[in-house]
Amino acid sequence: MRTQSAILEKLGEPLGLWDIEIPALKPGQALVEIAYSGVCHTQLGEARGRRGEDAFLPHCLGHEASGVVVEVGSEIKKVAVGDQVIVSWIKGSGGDVPGTVYEGNGQKINAGGATTFARHAVISENRLTVIPEGVSLRDASYIGCAVPTGIGAVVNTAQPQPGQSLAVFGTGGVGLCAIMGAVLSGCAPIIAIDRIDAKLETAKKLGAHHAINVDSSDVTEELGRIVPKGLDFAIEATGVGTVMVQALASVRQQGGAAVVIGNARFGDLLDINPREFNMGKRILGTWGGDTVPDRDYPRYGNLLRYGRLDLSELQHDVYRLDQINDALDDLEAGRAIRPLIDMSLDLH
Ligand SMILES: [Zn+2]
Repeated sequence: MRTQSAILEKLGEPLGLWDIEIPALKPGQALVEIAYSGVCHTQLGEARGRRGEDAFLPHCLGHEASGVVVEVGSEIKKVAVGDQVIVSWIKGSGGDVPGTVYEGNGQKINAGGATTFARHAVISENRLTVIPEGVSLRDASYIGCAVPTGIGAVVNTAQPQPGQSLAVFGTGGVGLCAIMGAVLSGCAPIIAIDRIDAKLETAKKLGAHHAINVDSSDVTEELGRIVPKGLDFAIEATGVGTVMVQALASVRQQGGAAVVIGNARFGDLLDINPREFNMGKRILGTWGGDTVPDRDYPRYGNLLRYGRLDLSELQHDVYRLDQINDALDDLEAGRAIRPLIDMSLDLH
């Protein structure tokens, strides 16, 4: 069987839309017809060559989606044909099959355990979760990365108490999910920091109490006015080293913590004054919001189903699969918050 997939052939060049041949499924793999795929900064970094050398070219991309299982390999227990599923880069239970090799344009094409910029994709069982009842395919796609990473960085990694202050540096898709995680945790005040007013406005709609534009205000001064003793928590979602350092500087002495989510450019290093640690500040890393898919995705499903979580503000920028390069360009320029590829839209 053949399908269509966006392929990265050369770093720094637009993705190509290729017809590719789907190989026979290995034990522990399922074939998923993708319904929606999100686009995140990780793919932008990969496509633009910011993550260093890429030994897997040409390869498939994308790591959050929703879809329907159309075929299963042997040993698959977690999903069955016809199930609506979340495709996530974050590993859960089930078989761990690292990758797949497709063929197209006379070449071998590599793919990891989960890729999503395609009409169909071979996915490892441990990257699949059945969509909880009452959750749409459209919403479920963002449970693949943005929701667990952003909300998880707050509820699993930072673990704030109600009434603690929290700022999010960088209010793209993941950062906005962190804002929603702060709202769910009862944080106050919640402060959104970005350089794009439209994103800050969205952050306020989602529950941020204050918004700071880094280009028109002094962030340190503004934060000092809002939380004179420093923040309880700072969540960094920009991938910029100097912002990570600023996030740590902005938390309070004796217990404040900065959580670093963003993927920095390959080779970047942090320049931190060690005195920050002597003052009792903490810097925390996170692997996808310390998410356990089998535990957390049903919870996000409940929040969506019962109206405690609304992803519609993140879903304004919808693209066809053949507009994947526009989606990447718009994400890079800040014109789109979290591009959503809708596979049901006809190609032009
Ligand atoms: Zn992602």
